[in-house]
Amino acid sequence: MSSRTQKPGQIWDAALGELQLQVARPAFETWLRDTEGVAHRDGEFIVGTANAFIAEMLEHRMYPLIERAIEHVIGEPTSVRFQVVTQSSISESVESETPAVAGESEQTLTVTAGTAQPAAVVAPPPSLNSRYTFDRFVVGKSNELAHAAARAVADNPGNVYNPLVMYSDVGLGKTHLLHAIGSQAIAKGMSLIYATTEEFTNEYIRAIREGKTEEFRQRYRSAGLLLLDDIQFLIGKEQTQEGFFHTFNALHMSNRQIVITSDRPVSSLKILEERISSRLSGGLVVDIQPPDLETRLAILRAKAEQMGVKVDGQVLELLGARIYRNIRELEGSLNRVVAYSDLMQRPLDAELVRQVIADTQEARERRQPSEREVIDAVSAHFGVDKTTLCGPKRDKKTALARQVAMYILREDAAMGSTAIARALGRKDHSTVLHGCKTIENYQNADAKLRRDILTVRETLAAVG
Ligand code: ADP
Ligand code: MG
Repeated sequence: MSSRTQKPGQIWDAALGELQLQVARPAFETWLRDTEGVAHRDGEFIVGTANAFIAEMLEHRMYPLIERAIEHVIGEPTSVRFQVVTQSSISESVESETPAVAGESEQTLTVTAGTAQPAAVVAPPPSLNSRYTFDRFVVGKSNELAHAAARAVADNPGNVYNPLVMYSDVGLGKTHLLHAIGSQAIAKGMSLIYATTEEFTNEYIRAIREGKTEEFRQRYRSAGLLLLDDIQFLIGKEQTQEGFFHTFNALHMSNRQIVITSDRPVSSLKILEERISSRLSGGLVVDIQPPDLETRLAILRAKAEQMGVKVDGQVLELLGARIYRNIRELEGSLNRVVAYSDLMQRPLDAELVRQVIADTQEARERRQPSEREVIDAVSAHFGVDKTTLCGPKRDKKTALARQVAMYILREDAAMGSTAIARALGRKDHSTVLHGCKTIENYQNADAKLRRDILTVRETLAAVG
């Protein structure tokens, strides 16, 4: 069979067969087993992975091997791109040529599931991450209230707390709980709409532009349940606030459940129109705090089990004892030591943990670059001079470089958004928040962008 008629799934299966012979078994199991061939066109082959971390590992550690295996099967030079696909879209996309939609929790898709279908046959739709379930949510002091409220709402939508607003810093489980509510509602045969506020905004603005606001209204108002992620994105968007307000009222008046997340406290959403914030505080507002040691350990234990790796108690304690900004970082630390142990074929013990942790801490300290270094490195990498970077131009290349600069200034130079806005000649710190979020969102799906960021970081590490 010629490669032209081969489906991406078949090509990838053949490539995996080859890779299996070349890669150590634990590494194969960890990194390659759950991948899929997603699409093949124009000299490019897209491999779907379950999360951004795996995509990153494959790209940095195995790219040449994988590229060679693919070329072998296809018989012509082909570049490989790794793209995050959700679990459900992985299994669905095997037989099709269409790339699955990227993005994990930050995905911006909306879905409406059918009503009144028997519970057992309704799988979570692709936009809900199938791993974000109540089963997989570890409950501790820091999140028990939010968890209980989410459960109550999922058990009894529209009748208990309406709206339910969940608030916390980034990475503490809001999206996880929101998806868990959604999956449970779908299992019960309810119709729902899940959208990030960005998606809601885009859809609303498109509806206005195309004169289809009536359809927009109909669609949203027909939802049995509305799950809206990251409402802080409405700040400063007056027109969309208007659309949101009317949607909200229509749903609320007919007792449809609304669940909203925010990474700002509701009181600080005052910048939202008064009428919206007073509506929100009319329901139940719950917050999630960073997890305490006990909860961190419980989360690590659960994650290790899900990854199917045996990690002894001492190792978990070493990992759990460290300070993390959020649960994503906590998970990342476990992923990293497991990956390291796989790739280096070394036992996952305390010594290895100390070494990996020391590595990253040292690297982190060394890597704290100055504002000027970041701007210089970004400007050099993208070929956009500094005046342009900090000026008014907004063409694609300049805008991308600027957003990468924002992201690295925040992540690596630990600068606040107001300081970043000033450094880059922006009037408003919300531009910076938006820029950073954009980079975060696209990173999952865009291997080229990940490589851009990595190269800039490497330059900075070399400077430091
Ligand atoms: P947020 O939406 O608040 O930024 P997420 O819901 O995206 O945070 O959570 C970040 C990561 O941490 C996800 O992978 C999520 O599954 C995980 N996580 C958060 N809280 C818990 C918990 N209590 N138990 C297990 N995993 C969790
Ligand atoms: Mg979230």
